[in-house]
Amino acid sequence: METRRVRLDLNWRVERLADSPSLPESTVYSYSMNDVQVFAGHGRRRHGFRCSRPIRFLRSMWLATCCAVAGFWSAGCGVVPQAANPNDGGVNSDNEAKPFTFQISVARHIDQPLSEQRVNRIFSTANELLLADDNECSDVSCPVTFDRDGAIETFDNSPAIVTTEAQLDAVFDDSADIKIVTLMVGVCGSPSADDVSLVLGCAFTGGSAVLVQDAPADVWAHEWGHVQGLPHRNNCGRNLMHAFELETNAVNATERDAFLSPTPGQNFLAFKTIFEEQHSASVAPEFDGEMVSAPVEDIFNRRYLAGFPSTLFTRHNLQMQSRELLDRMQTDPSPRCRANLARAIGLSRDVAACETFLTSCGSIAGDLNIDELDELIEQIIALGRLADVDTTNQTTELLLAGADPAFWTHRDLTLVLDDGRRIDLDDSLARICVMGLGLTKNPTVPERLRELKRIALTRNESDPWFIPQIDEALERIAGTGKYAADAKTDRIP
Ligand SMILES: [Zn+2]
Repeated sequence: METRRVRLDLNWRVERLADSPSLPESTVYSYSMNDVQVFAGHGRRRHGFRCSRPIRFLRSMWLATCCAVAGFWSAGCGVVPQAANPNDGGVNSDNEAKPFTFQISVARHIDQPLSEQRVNRIFSTANELLLADDNECSDVSCPVTFDRDGAIETFDNSPAIVTTEAQLDAVFDDSADIKIVTLMVGVCGSPSADDVSLVLGCAFTGGSAVLVQDAPADVWAHEWGHVQGLPHRNNCGRNLMHAFELETNAVNATERDAFLSPTPGQNFLAFKTIFEEQHSASVAPEFDGEMVSAPVEDIFNRRYLAGFPSTLFTRHNLQMQSRELLDRMQTDPSPRCRANLARAIGLSRDVAACETFLTSCGSIAGDLNIDELDELIEQIIALGRLADVDTTNQTTELLLAGADPAFWTHRDLTLVLDDGRRIDLDDSLARICVMGLGLTKNPTVPERLRELKRIALTRNESDPWFIPQIDEALERIAGTGKYAADAKTDRIP
């Protein structure tokens, strides 16, 4: 059994003291209490063990004692040692991969339907795609089994459409391994305006994952890879851990071993380091300034893990074509394609787009399906990005008007889910308009947001998440709090 010396210090952030994922025996780690809590997870079940959300301090102290006394870092804490359980994946080599099973509990937002049959199908598909060998990218077979643990529970401590990190905190507080919400907008540690998007999944390393209701099986597996400590790997388009591609399945031997291991183990630290490096880079490393042309259909008809990536925008030099993209957005029959185009045009910051978005957001009404709602949200986010180039200030004024739920009420905007269930959108859209205001560099906006907050405080706000949304928008503009340059996040889409 490998051993790791671990030092626990109450005031340290996680600091990885070696660069290679294959760490020497003498590596010393330091952890803050927060990081230990992260590793303790959210009641995740492995081999019958469950950490049942005790008081954080007690959990931390328990874990600290466990790590310090047992000294078996690679086997992790809170699970039985490898030798005691034949189903443990343990150490694998290229020629030897012992099957491993995760018992995964699933919970859904109370307003978001999700059948056990659907979860079973997703797990079955995820198992198959990990077991398969892919020909396009270097891939190894990974005999992991995701197995649903018990009935699907419900939670109601956040909105079904998640629009702030505080709401996402509340969802992560639920004890299930995987939580399902309707949508996530602009959350999961998006530090810059370019990164703000609709995300399909969000993982808390060493803890649990949150997924949107229609996330495909490879996104479930991808987020579980992050839970197991894996970073993104973008050198091939079908890599399961690709930062934005979907329809993926390829894993390398290191990733396979993480999926066949009961704990995140040493990869937990690799993840944190690489994630921080990625967020400090302006362009994803695989692009390297290379300019590529591709048919617009190939780029915009697809779905991405966290919205149409700003890196693709750079790579395909789409700024040159923003008028063409605008024409296409007004005529394309697919709301999915129009949503991607809206996002790209917002990133282009072409003032010519303002009028189109203003007309569209100002006139939309009635029932929406999920793709149409995605499109509307991308338009609101695009307006936020465009608000400072629009010298008429109409864009800012529309976002301020939309920050009042009454703006949407008389339009009867309702999300209609596949099973016919209806979700009222007034409060969510008002909050997304506040988020849009938080993305703009228009210098008048912070004072307008503070005024909005003062008004909200004087009336009895029906939406308890409205004022926190304003606070997050102000933090984003000021680059403070969780949006500070040196802020740490343990979450990744
Ligand atoms: Zn990811």
